[in-house]
Amino acid sequence: MGQAKTYGLGFLKKAFFLYAFVCYTSLLFAQKYPQDYFRYPLDSLPNLVSPFGGLRDNHFHSGIDLRTNGREGLPVYAAADGYISRIKIQKSGYGKALYIEHPNGYSTVYGHLQQYHGAIAEWIHRYQYINKTFEFDKIFMKPFLKVKKGDTIGWSGNSGGSTGPHLHYEIRDTKTEKIMNPALFGLIPYDTLDPIINKIHVYKFVAEGELLKKQLTVNKRNFTLIDSIWLYKDTLELDPEIYGFGLEAYDFIHNAKDEKGIYEISLLLNQQTKFTHTLNQFAFDESKYINAHIDFPYYKIEKLRIQKCFIDDGNAFSTYKTDADKGRLNLALKKNNTGNIVFAVKDFNGNAFYIQLCYKIGESNLDQARVDYEKSIAGKRMLIPGKAKVVEANGLLITMDPKSIYDTVFYELETLFGDKNSFSREYVFHTPNVPIHATFDIAIEPTFVPAGLEKKLVLAYSNGKSDRFRSAGGSFENGVVKGKGANFGNYCIMLDTVAPTVKWMRYKNEDNPYDTLRWDFEIKDNFTGISSYAAYLNDHWILVDYDLKNQQLTYKFDEMYYLVRQSIVLNQMDSSLPVYADLKILLEDAKGNKQEKHFNLLLK
Ligand SMILES: [Zn+2]
Repeated sequence: MGQAKTYGLGFLKKAFFLYAFVCYTSLLFAQKYPQDYFRYPLDSLPNLVSPFGGLRDNHFHSGIDLRTNGREGLPVYAAADGYISRIKIQKSGYGKALYIEHPNGYSTVYGHLQQYHGAIAEWIHRYQYINKTFEFDKIFMKPFLKVKKGDTIGWSGNSGGSTGPHLHYEIRDTKTEKIMNPALFGLIPYDTLDPIINKIHVYKFVAEGELLKKQLTVNKRNFTLIDSIWLYKDTLELDPEIYGFGLEAYDFIHNAKDEKGIYEISLLLNQQTKFTHTLNQFAFDESKYINAHIDFPYYKIEKLRIQKCFIDDGNAFSTYKTDADKGRLNLALKKNNTGNIVFAVKDFNGNAFYIQLCYKIGESNLDQARVDYEKSIAGKRMLIPGKAKVVEANGLLITMDPKSIYDTVFYELETLFGDKNSFSREYVFHTPNVPIHATFDIAIEPTFVPAGLEKKLVLAYSNGKSDRFRSAGGSFENGVVKGKGANFGNYCIMLDTVAPTVKWMRYKNEDNPYDTLRWDFEIKDNFTGISSYAAYLNDHWILVDYDLKNQQLTYKFDEMYYLVRQSIVLNQMDSSLPVYADLKILLEDAKGNKQEKHFNLLLK
């Protein structure tokens, strides 16, 4: 323990230095990034539902989510003077989104809006009618719709892929489009809660791949708090090998139950910084590196995220700083050596949590885990990050992109008889517990092509466990169905000949279904998904919102409703008769299966 304490005090100076460094960097940020330029885009104090770079399924959160108290319809304000540089409306993703370019080189982004405001809303409505489309992505190269700091630009909502009302907000570097941590610009919620490390995972490397060797749970039984550093009471006995570490670590902002992501993680070996990960900024297309940043197989199985303090060869995420060892600690040549390893996790306000472990290098000994690992990869074929590779089986051709994988993969490839719904053999390409970064090309030869239905063939994917086959896209050309694979798992060919369906949702007001200023329709597709949709009122195109997550089309009564109504009234002999119009909905799925449905609806 005495020895550990010596390290602890030695480290305290380091900790103090780190603290000074944090203050110094905050000062640098203040100089580099304007602190009072952007106002908070809502009426409340800064309150985050989800932080910058939060750990999500398949991506780092590319912005921050601001709390709207579980409600929609709060006014959203322009964060600073500028002009509308882009309007993007999608059935999923950010839903109704708005981009403002500011003269200081940054842009702000507002996502999942319920509605737009004023001149912006009017412009959008006109644009949608002229182009006969709900969804669009319009980039304005010159100032057209100008805004002043604090102008209402819209109302907060839950549109697109959002799973609850909130405002998604981003600050981007306009030129590089890199997404910046809004905390750099002073958008920092009040926060005095320290982050914590729950568990430390020790990885032992073999020539290719790594072995999870040991987990240390951080608790009062095996750690002592001395001078704000948690010291491991034991000494970690290690073989002379190369090691990596991973942390289960969490941060808290508003209360001790409200778990957020960690802003910064560092690893020091004998007072030398070996690895730092800092979430200040990253490019939009980097966000998928989450799958290499965390221990992906562990996440798939345990549903817990270990953040690794070492970098896979195929992981190019730009938030890391390391030496050439990429966070791997070479302890192979230091028999009987002792030393210490320090982990530091921090939030933006300087709240921090430190852990120190002392280790001792023992004898090299035969390791059962290693023997088992070597047995498990024996005879398997290998994929190497950074290299394209062709993978073949009877009736299957896969071309891996150099960026498809993060680390060496010893893969398995199995051919099965397809199930009763498939038109090919079924191929089991390794396991979905291993992540894929860039998609790979995949071509499967059908065992049977139903005459005249070639265009309806599509690739199907399943994770081989719980889920059924779902569409993986692709199309029939030159005797094979070709497409892209985004995951390891099971692939085959299936057929989609079933058109989408549509239903008027009367239940909104069962007593009087017409007592509303909107009509809602449920639209569904069984396999490849709805690729186009349109609605007409007495043959006039009308604007319908499509919300993919709720499988819902909505017509909010606009000028077209009243124009159609008026023209019917003018043509009817008896003006007291009820006014009915034909509402036609056209749907098409990705395989060209079409639906046309008519509803005879009362216009109030
Ligand atoms: Zn968000």
